[in-house]
Amino acid sequence: MASTVTRFAPSPTGFLHLGHAHSAWQGWRAARQAGGRFLLRLEDLDPGRCRPEYAAAITEDLRWLGLDWDGPVRVQSEHMAEYRAALDVLAARGLLYPCFCTRAEIAREIAGSGRAPHLAAAGPDGPVYPGTCRRLSPDRRAARLAAGEPHALRLDMAGALAGLSAPLSFEELGEGRVRCDPARFGDVVLARKDAPASYHLCVTHDDAVQGVTLVTRGEDLRAATDIHRLLQDLLGWPEPAYAHHPLLRGADGRRLAKRDGAPALRDLRAAGRSPGEVLALAGATS
Ligand code: GLU
Repeated sequence: MASTVTRFAPSPTGFLHLGHAHSAWQGWRAARQAGGRFLLRLEDLDPGRCRPEYAAAITEDLRWLGLDWDGPVRVQSEHMAEYRAALDVLAARGLLYPCFCTRAEIAREIAGSGRAPHLAAAGPDGPVYPGTCRRLSPDRRAARLAAGEPHALRLDMAGALAGLSAPLSFEELGEGRVRCDPARFGDVVLARKDAPASYHLCVTHDDAVQGVTLVTRGEDLRAATDIHRLLQDLLGWPEPAYAHHPLLRGADGRRLAKRDGAPALRDLRAAGRSPGEVLALAGATS
């Protein structure tokens, strides 16, 4: 059997907090217990939110904690041509279309359609897209592209699913096969207006090229796995196993998040906590 390869893939949009330490430790422990490899990847494709100082702090904080990784750090912004090539494969199969809609236009379209808002907000990326730009005439689409209108690229979900030979599922450690239902997310964005590739495309691409065999990440990303399995199938990428861990919660039961004042690892360090104490606070104990 291939040896275990896990990864921690934070986005450098802030300083790491205890929730990140928990997640990194999950991947690190799974690799080390199996005598495998633990990789570090920086998912830095959101130009509005990612900052180099946060990227530098991630490697420093993980080193301080003693969560060592194998090989070089993969930095997504250095691999744009690879993501573009993957998008080209989908485009050549007619599975992508340009979407010119703004968030406000999508919200108006959904409100006007009479669909209950809770049904419209089912996806991991917010409301399910009503398909407006999928229905543009070829002429209209070409004219808007020629005019240089900013656009995202969306997956034609119905077209993508039509090509599947069997229903999709994924292997969740300790649970077995879990059925996927990517259709519920509608035509997901694979290239954003402000970033040439989306989280879904890049995370799936990189797990494949880095040979990741076990994806360890928070339960909040479990739903997105349905989309990732679809992309793996469409692009002929290998299928890793998944281990979605419960999110670390504060004393009040709420998930730890920077916006709710979760302490940064570097603040705990500055306050005199040792790496062992911080790992214990992060529930990294067995
Ligand atoms: N970059 C993602 C995040 O920071 C995590 C990606 C993943 O583990 O699949 O939330």
